Amino acid sequence: MMRDWDMVVVGTGFGGSMVALAAVRAGLRVLLIERGRWVDRDDSAWDPRSILIDRKYRSVSPFETPRFGFGRTRFFPDEAVGGKSVFYGAASFRLREADFRLRDRYPDVCSDLTDWPIDYADLAPFYDQAERLLGVAGVAGSDPNEPTRAGPYGAAPPPFSAPARRVASAAEALGLRPFPIPLAINFASTDGRRPCVQCLTCDLFPCKIGAKNDLTVTVLPTAIAAGATVLHGTVAVRLRRDGREGRVSAVDCIDTASGERFSVTCRVCVVSAGAIPSAGLLLASGLGAVEPNGSWIGRCLMRHCSGIVIGIFGGRTNPERVFHKQVALTDFYFGDGHRSPPGPWGMIQGLQVPPPEYIVAEGGFPIGTLGAKTVDRQVFLLCIAQDLPDAENRVEIDPAMTDTYGAPIPRVFHSYSPRDRGARSALYREGARILRKAGALIRVRKPINTFSHALGTCRFGDDPARAALDPWCRFFGVPNLFVVDASFMPSSGGVNPSLTIAANALRVGQHVVAEWDRLA
Ligand SMILES: Cc1cc2nc3c(=O)[nH]c(=O)nc-3n(C[C@H](O)[C@H](O)[C@H](O)COP(=O)(O)OP(=O)(O)OC[C@H]3O[C@@H](n4cnc5c(N)ncnc54)[C@H](O)[C@@H]3O)c2cc1C
Ligand code: SF4
Repeated sequence: MMRDWDMVVVGTGFGGSMVALAAVRAGLRVLLIERGRWVDRDDSAWDPRSILIDRKYRSVSPFETPRFGFGRTRFFPDEAVGGKSVFYGAASFRLREADFRLRDRYPDVCSDLTDWPIDYADLAPFYDQAERLLGVAGVAGSDPNEPTRAGPYGAAPPPFSAPARRVASAAEALGLRPFPIPLAINFASTDGRRPCVQCLTCDLFPCKIGAKNDLTVTVLPTAIAAGATVLHGTVAVRLRRDGREGRVSAVDCIDTASGERFSVTCRVCVVSAGAIPSAGLLLASGLGAVEPNGSWIGRCLMRHCSGIVIGIFGGRTNPERVFHKQVALTDFYFGDGHRSPPGPWGMIQGLQVPPPEYIVAEGGFPIGTLGAKTVDRQVFLLCIAQDLPDAENRVEIDPAMTDTYGAPIPRVFHSYSPRDRGARSALYREGARILRKAGALIRVRKPINTFSHALGTCRFGDDPARAALDPWCRFFGVPNLFVVDASFMPSSGGVNPSLTIAANALRVGQHVVAEWDRLA
């Protein structure tokens, strides 16, 4: 393998893959470093035991996090080429215009809240591109507070399944405006790939037949065909800054199979390892000492304040046993004007009911066991409440606490504010109201305590005293270092983040290419 590259990208998730595609298409020599491996498209992909219980893709490197309740624990994320896109639910939403100016809209609601240094209009053409690259199927104009878009989606989603119809009818009866979730799924194949068979193992699972348009079946093959190299099973442990003007000149790596240590050199380095690992890598590389923005690395970690309302019905809710993560509501995105809490709330979405094996494993006895017995009579609504930034919610490292590869383990400190919990409670109430109207006999609320939507740990902005990155996601003070994963987001928005990460990375990629002679 070559040791000398134009651009080295750490991480093959939405940020890394998109920036790499933009760069390789412009003729740059691009290396992507990825600690995970390519997923197997075999029976294990849809096997709840293999994926959710035995954790086939579990990383050996944990994060240390607050334990739900009290104390601290270690969380081992899944890892794979394509990052979380392989396991995600494919909901592909744009932020709203007002999300870019939240501080203007809610000047008194949160002292760490900043406006974005760009507007929706700056991102809109890249949202268009990202939707095309990811084959998003949706219905333009159906989302009541959808931002302006240039045209329709490239494909249509399938009709609502029984659980989605039930939710949509109840919501309409309450005067709400449900609409189809835009999904990055190959429902009606036009490119020769096998289309979606609408199974029940989508969210949380790799797609056995490659119909979920994750990065390993869309963007990465295109980037590789254009000349990019993906080095999987390789952990980036440190960025070396021995170049002119404190530039990153090399990335130190470890081959996870052989344990071999080696370095690759680069003219531009892009970190896109995910919001928690990226902060850890930058801190382990000494970038916390860069003034004044280094002190923002790891700060303002957000993760959405999400939870599920589970409706239990008298009869079977999904008799055809088909995919049903389909219906969304944005009626309460910015709250409802007069009810508490102040500030943005978020959205409600249909969610796939997980397999019974997982419900038992998660819930234990007796809750999980009872939950698994009623699984075919359940409907899940996911409430994604927007959480606001707080500099005390953060990622740190302790050089004495290291993983198998000798890299510092990211230590996460996080708690939700009463306002953020209030936004979730408000969405819970609305979700429960819909499910009651739909005929649910029992409604159960369950907070989500994962970091699947982690973001914000290297926020971008105009002022290095208030942000880690400049408006092009370049680390202030290091001319050739960019960060393009979910870390860059200064506020979390009330929608799932992947499409925004993808669009922004395309924007940054185009900028790096345009400015190459000056940057490299
Ligand atoms: C189960 C699940 C369902 C979700 N559903 C949705 C959804 O429906 N819609 C949506 O918009 N979002 C969803 N999300 C969230 C979404 O997937 C993430 O926000 C998004 O994928 C983050 O992209 P990223 O580029 O920031 O980072 P990641 O996807 O985390 O990519 C980072 C990559 O870097 C690699 N890496 C980390 N450290 C190193 C290192 N030191 N060296 C080399 N490689 C490294 C990781 O292995 C990973 O592949 C879901 C997430 C999960 C877990
Ligand atoms: S629902 Fe479709 S895209 Fe999702 S895993 Fe099943 S076949 Fe794949």
